[in-house]
Amino acid sequence: MIYLDYSATTPVSYDVLESYLRATKDFIGNPNSLHGLGVKSKTLMNSAIKQIADLFNILESEITFTSGATESNNMALIGSCLANMKTGNHIIVSKLEHPSIYKICEYLESIGFTISYVNNDQDGLIDFEDLKSLIRPDTILVSICAVNSEVGIRQPLKMIRQIIKKENSQTLFHSDMTQAIGKIPVSFHDVDMASISAHKIFGPKGIGLFYKNSRVKLMPIIYGSGKSNDLKPGTPAVPLIVAFSKALRLALIDLDKRENFVKRLNEKIITEISKLDGLVINQTKYSIPHILNISLMNVRPETFIHAMEEFEVYLGTNTACASGDLSTSIMAIYNDKRRAMGTIRISLSYITTTDEINRFLNYFKSIYPKLNGLMD
Ligand code: PMP
Repeated sequence: MIYLDYSATTPVSYDVLESYLRATKDFIGNPNSLHGLGVKSKTLMNSAIKQIADLFNILESEITFTSGATESNNMALIGSCLANMKTGNHIIVSKLEHPSIYKICEYLESIGFTISYVNNDQDGLIDFEDLKSLIRPDTILVSICAVNSEVGIRQPLKMIRQIIKKENSQTLFHSDMTQAIGKIPVSFHDVDMASISAHKIFGPKGIGLFYKNSRVKLMPIIYGSGKSNDLKPGTPAVPLIVAFSKALRLALIDLDKRENFVKRLNEKIITEISKLDGLVINQTKYSIPHILNISLMNVRPETFIHAMEEFEVYLGTNTACASGDLSTSIMAIYNDKRRAMGTIRISLSYITTTDEINRFLNYFKSIYPKLNGLMD
């Protein structure tokens, strides 16, 4: 098998799974219980939270565990809009967000909030002048992803934060860092709120993290009992938290070295496939090497994906193109409908091997020319 869909999800690493199993078997108590078993679970959970807080140089109380980045994004956007509706009803997002952000925006619009979409330049970088001009006294939130999930565009969060705070010091800044974490260095200190997910960094599915600076006031979107966290009541998922902490510690090692390796793989793929007719590489100087997006101009992406799957090569498409819709990210960068219709995403990891890429290229070079031009 050649798995090249790491941006969709990653396999759970053995060490992470072992942490999960140990916490499940040996720590059966509810951390909210007062008795010894509860205290034992709570102690384990708190040490995992402390490890995460130390990794990011943040406070333990600034961490909320969620079911994934989708829930974290909901908490950030809905929670800050509800908490600040007396100050304003305007929020700004980029044109390169994950669909979950746009779905939340649709909901916020339906309850009276106004959304502005900030422009980007032709390389995908946020248009700073446009951002400045959009920020108003009633702008309560700006949400811009650290790395776009389709084309891998990386945004300079620190600079964006400075622009936002200079225009309106009350405006909150949230970033969906789901595709950045474990691939490039990120700092929660560049933002007021951030979303990440464990299953993108060889952790288990079903747990995410929501970071909120302690100065930020939010309205909870979930209500219930449990003392651990005001934003996420209920019984904490101790084994998932322990496993997530392990996955994070492993994910943040040797980032530069790993990124350079992935960059070499990315360059090898581009050198080989750009020799083929009828495809366009969607990559700009701001794309991280882990995400390589290609438009097949004459082949349906799903046809190609399934043809490659016959040989156990697993690639991604954008969720939109399977239903015939246009890729919003490709439209935002290239403004080309044809290009936005047929994209595939090859996503690489530091665990991808050179041998896998060589074999992938052989399959690509033999399958693609046979399909090229067959589309009716
Ligand atoms: N944001 C981004 C940028 C993503 O890539 C994803 C996953 N595709 C999500 C949010 C949603 O994450 P989750 O599956 O953990 O809810």
